[in-house]
Amino acid sequence: MTEHTLTVAGVAVDTRHWIGGRRVASAETFTDVSPLDGSALGEISRGTATEAVAAVAAAKAAFPGWAATPRAERARILHAVADGVEKRIEDLAIVETHDNAALLRSHRRGVMPRVAHNFRFFADWLLKLDHEDFETRGHTNHVSWDPAGPCVLITPWNAPLMLATWKIAPALAAGNTVILKPAEWTPLTASLLADIAADAGLPAGVLNVVQGYGAEAGNALVSHPDVRRISFTGSVPTAKAIGAASAANLVPTSFELGGKSPLLVFADADLDLAVDLAVEQYDNAGQVCLAATRILVEESIADEFTRRFAEKAAALKQGDPRDEATDLGPNIHPRQLEKIDGFVQRAIAAGARAVVGGTPNTDLGGLYYRPTLLTDVAQDSEVVQEEVFGPVLTLQTFATEREAVALANDTRFGLAATLATGDHERAERVTAQLVAGTVWVNCFFVRDLQAPFGGSRQSGVGREGGTWSFDFYCDLKNTVTAPKGWQDHG
Ligand code: ADP
Repeated sequence: MTEHTLTVAGVAVDTRHWIGGRRVASAETFTDVSPLDGSALGEISRGTATEAVAAVAAAKAAFPGWAATPRAERARILHAVADGVEKRIEDLAIVETHDNAALLRSHRRGVMPRVAHNFRFFADWLLKLDHEDFETRGHTNHVSWDPAGPCVLITPWNAPLMLATWKIAPALAAGNTVILKPAEWTPLTASLLADIAADAGLPAGVLNVVQGYGAEAGNALVSHPDVRRISFTGSVPTAKAIGAASAANLVPTSFELGGKSPLLVFADADLDLAVDLAVEQYDNAGQVCLAATRILVEESIADEFTRRFAEKAAALKQGDPRDEATDLGPNIHPRQLEKIDGFVQRAIAAGARAVVGGTPNTDLGGLYYRPTLLTDVAQDSEVVQEEVFGPVLTLQTFATEREAVALANDTRFGLAATLATGDHERAERVTAQLVAGTVWVNCFFVRDLQAPFGGSRQSGVGREGGTWSFDFYCDLKNTVTAPKGWQDHG
């Protein structure tokens, strides 16, 4: 324990950066506030250009050694990181819940095991990564995935360690070195991961963590000329700023951004399933980029659907996310709560009806917003077109399949879409017309790490997952070798 240690629910977390295998403090700090009760968790080192430069230098220095480490050895160390994560699931889960207020039970049983799986999956995928050689007039073409260099990874607060490791694991597996800048609202689990990675034997400088604000530490990192890749998950305006900075150095970027995804419910659907899928969209208090926040229901079943939905939504338990029985916790920040309520009140003023919720939950106080369903919303209205990032869904009806598809595609986003239908041919027909990186048919949130993941339009640039991750984090090289004795052939 040092003056740079804070304690959350009995877990010690270092508040400094992790650069070149050492803890580094900044002169200035920022306060990490818990959304559970507004209490200050502690003071975190506030990174600036100085720390960004130091971290990129450390990553650059460590790169040749890590890149030259045999694949099997890199994979072994990543599995050791996964072991370390598994040993500390309880610590990671409780710290993350204090930092971002997502459910403790899902951190324990879903998120943190998945964090470990991120490392295992990409370690194993690396060992399988291959492309069959091919021939050109007797010459052999061999494709290899060469590590690219230092990668800057910028991540958001809604699923901090999950989203960070989904980038860190393939970047490291590929032989790159990493500088992670976690969101300033949720800096803590990244610091714990640095400890875990060091204990697992990851060499100094291979993974670096710089804490701080986006406009300071983040901007300095994405503008650095020695960076070879930038992967970012967050908002559209920030992506544009990062895109402009990276363009100056011609650095490839991967962006996973927002969404306004539809859930299409056809009259031939299993209605119970459809209602369950809709209610599931309140997960993480609606702070999920993939959430299907626009429910589109076939007219003939709309009343029955709405009745059953309201019943299910009313049964959701809102409260402390550390409580096992809780379904919905608070939102992340007072600014976010205000933004959510702003969307809802402007929609109501424009003629929308809140058939469920529609206000902050004043019984609980704090940052709780009642799960909300708005009907009577116009397609071109703000609440239908813009991402709310809170527990707010809209419901619209359609008369024909054609109209359903038109409504579904009519936003500037294209992250995901979910369909509830009992008709297989319809599912195929509709899916083919949807603009979305992922389509779920009669299911939601099933995510295999070998699948391509990303969004179309303003929902993102590029795809990560399986080999697509390695395509992004590597410089692909094709080596053409002449046949033995080629001189004889002229
Ligand atoms: P949100 O609006 O949900 O907070 P942001 O896109 O602003 O989402 O933030 C996501 C991540 O991007 C955070 O880690 C934040 O610090 C970082 N960030 C914000 N602005 C910049 C920037 N100009 N350059 C680099 N990173 C940034």
